Amino acid sequence: MGGRVDVAVIGGGPAGLTAGVYLGRFLRSVVVLDAGSSRARYIPASHNCPGFPHGIAGEELLERLREQAEEFGATLVRARADGLEHVDGGFEVAASGKTWRAMKVILATGLADRLPDEPWAEEAIACGALRLCAVCDAFEARDGRIALMGPADSLAGHARFLRGYTGRLAAIPTDRDIDPAAADEMRALGVEAFSHGGTLGFVGRRCQWRAADGSISEFDTVYPYLGYEGRNALVADWGLEPGEEGELKVDRYQQTARPGLYAIGDVVSGLNQISVAVGQAAVAATHAHNSLPLVPRDRAHADASG
Ligand SMILES: Cc1cc2nc3c(=O)[nH]c(=O)nc-3n(C[C@H](O)[C@H](O)[C@H](O)COP(=O)(O)OP(=O)(O)OC[C@H]3O[C@@H](n4cnc5c(N)ncnc54)[C@H](O)[C@@H]3O)c2cc1C
Repeated sequence: MGGRVDVAVIGGGPAGLTAGVYLGRFLRSVVVLDAGSSRARYIPASHNCPGFPHGIAGEELLERLREQAEEFGATLVRARADGLEHVDGGFEVAASGKTWRAMKVILATGLADRLPDEPWAEEAIACGALRLCAVCDAFEARDGRIALMGPADSLAGHARFLRGYTGRLAAIPTDRDIDPAAADEMRALGVEAFSHGGTLGFVGRRCQWRAADGSISEFDTVYPYLGYEGRNALVADWGLEPGEEGELKVDRYQQTARPGLYAIGDVVSGLNQISVAVGQAAVAATHAHNSLPLVPRDRAHADASG
């Protein structure tokens, strides 16, 4: 038995750890179960994270958040939750052969990016040759030679966003040729549109596109828009009707259709950002706290602290 807690948080990325900080400071018992694969670990340096004008690496941010959550009493457990059930008006969470009983559960399980299926993908992310989130870091890539790749239908929208950052932009369709109307739009935007077919390579610290005709183009940065999957497997059969990419639907308190079950961060959001994840964590943790029974503070605590 893992124990009884007021709240079990599943996922220890920025969202789950921030929920841990808030709940600890609300003097609630909280366990944060984490499988250890936060998307934030991929971030070489984030420059849009509030309060870090010179940037912060994702691993360091996670470490600081872990320290902060523990400082206020959250219990952090490295384990993958593999079962979640609704029992007796509360929840039972199973992980690594143990179970936790919790009155509320906050799902902060994030999402899984679909990366190019290449052995070098993580190395290319680490040096910024592959970037996964233009909102996060197109600023750093600005004025470089940038390619975006993804399904033909999706390219024009991404090109409009990225064209504001560079005059050297190319679009690579991964499923079929770009249709004539989209190709016209690309031309009008000054975006080079490739035909379908070719291979992406990684040489030194840059990506290379070898087109079907054998020609090679080098890019400082490639943004692959290959989609992602919300990590919602624990509640897959709960009838919560997630969106197309697995994102869970919540109310304004981050509560799902199942009372007492909250969802925060990338598993919910359309804008997958740390600031959004931590904001949602604050909202969910506060609502969960306010809907738990009051535990009046014993005078003995004041007497003990003088
Ligand atoms: C390359 C890259 C660069 C980025 N740069 C920025 C940036 O500069 N600024 C910015 O704001 N955002 C950036 N992001 C996005 C940011 O990383 C995410 O928005 C953020 O990490 C979301 O936090 P989260 O807690 O919701 O999910 P995550 O950080 O992904 O954490 C989810 C956690 O849940 C755990 N988990 C999943 N399932 C289970 C389970 N069953 N049991 C236990 N644990 C589980 C996972 O192992 C993981 O540790 C970037 C992302 C990438 C990939």
